Amino acid sequence: MGIAKIECYVCERCNHKWIARNKKEKPKVCPKCKSPYWDTPRRIKKIGG
Ligand SMILES: [Zn+2]
Repeated sequence: MGIAKIECYVCERCNHKWIARNKKEKPKVCPKCKSPYWDTPRRIKKIGG
């Protein structure tokens, strides 16, 4: 249909979105906040535990 699906990444830390140039290789850091944990969501803390 002529529509190319663009793969993009979202930083879990700063919510920055960027287009993946190389889908096979995951970026090491977020280009904006430079966090190496951009793909790791914040831990869900138990409240009152
Ligand atoms: Zn970021």
